[in-house]
Amino acid sequence: MPHTDTPEQSDFRASVRRWVDSEIAPFVAGWDEAGSFPRTLYRRASELGLLQLGYPEALGGTPCALAWRLIAAEEIARAGAGGLMASLFSHNIGLPPIVEHGSAALQQLVVPGVLAGEQIAALAITEPGGGSDVARLRTTARREGDTWVLDGEKTFITSGQRADWITVAVRTGGPGPGGISLLVVPGDSPGLTRTPLDKMGWWCSDTAQLHFSSVRVPAQHLVGAENAGFRMIMANFNSERLLMSAGAVAFAQVCLDEATAWALQRQTFGQRLVEHQAIRHRLMDMRTQLIASRALLQQVTARFEATPGDSEVIADLCLLKNHATSTMQTCADHAVHILGGMGYMRGTKSERIYREVKVMQIGGGATEIMKELAWRQLAP
Ligand SMILES: Cc1cc2nc3c(=O)[nH]c(=O)nc-3n(C[C@H](O)[C@H](O)[C@H](O)COP(=O)(O)OP(=O)(O)OC[C@H]3O[C@@H](n4cnc5c(N)ncnc54)[C@H](O)[C@@H]3O)c2cc1C
Repeated sequence: MPHTDTPEQSDFRASVRRWVDSEIAPFVAGWDEAGSFPRTLYRRASELGLLQLGYPEALGGTPCALAWRLIAAEEIARAGAGGLMASLFSHNIGLPPIVEHGSAALQQLVVPGVLAGEQIAALAITEPGGGSDVARLRTTARREGDTWVLDGEKTFITSGQRADWITVAVRTGGPGPGGISLLVVPGDSPGLTRTPLDKMGWWCSDTAQLHFSSVRVPAQHLVGAENAGFRMIMANFNSERLLMSAGAVAFAQVCLDEATAWALQRQTFGQRLVEHQAIRHRLMDMRTQLIASRALLQQVTARFEATPGDSEVIADLCLLKNHATSTMQTCADHAVHILGGMGYMRGTKSERIYREVKVMQIGGGATEIMKELAWRQLAP
């Protein structure tokens, strides 16, 4: 399916693909079964320049257009393991608020080590009491002299177990969105306990519940202004949703590729599966949704790059996430069906993607929330 890469981007795509084919794809099913992947992979991703994409040079990053980050996301998704993507790139949700709003000292403390693959960053917003309604979060931070003291609980946090830095949403003021701040909490802070969580999919991704009991962090770990966190959180969601959409499109493509390859060689009733019209139609239904999602992704990406604050663009970005993840769901369903019993067996990419689609429709803002946010951006 055509991409709109420049020659340099094609070279970059090919180099990421080679890495994925040689160092990820052969091992990822084993990592998933083991519930974890080697920590050394962060350093490797940094050596290849992948962690640094889109970050300022002064912090060890490589400024670039969004298209490059999408290429990386698409190619890594070809391994068919969402859990790897989620954890290996959790800095893409943990770092941006620090890069955009943190003090120079906080940026230097946190960002270069993470982009070098030596440390891990995470973002903690969701609480056991609710994730969609961010404005009602309950974890508190109160100021005591030169420190903030945190109490509360976060859940479903990607890289929560092994993160060295956690960007935590806390209530520092009154109720509602105007009382929320972001604080950077070191992973080894006394009073922070982390409990791993078992999941339907994303097995190799580290997902944890975090408990904060009088956790003290220096006052300088506040990101931006006090009580200004809600807007930062909302802005941060935009790029997360775009990258998730790119991943969803790529996972859908993996399903189409796997189903096509299977249908070309599997024989039933004396014919290859592709010679049965019903199977060909499934493949074409997958392609129909896929090309539509990919076109929408390319279009919204270009508009978001040009005018990131435009309400119509933000609305369409939310709808893109729904479209792309719905395409992923349809394609995973068709692919597992075409693979038959083999599609139900652990080890095929389609089986894994089938289990992983739900988190794509819930995480980063669930489907209903995307529609609500889009409507609010567009409401006359
Ligand atoms: C594997 C995994 C990794 C995650 N990683 C992170 C992370 O790194 N950091 C982080 O902060 N969070 C993370 N999350 C949390 C995720 O963002 C939340 O699960 C998500 O925002 C939904 O919140 P909730 O689970 O509390 O569901 P709820 O908010 O309780 O919603 C439950 C259901 O009700 C629907 N709903 C809610 N409100 C409405 C409404 N007004 N109208 C109609 N329907 C509604 C929702 O769409 C959803 O389907 C992760 C989740 C998972 C599963």
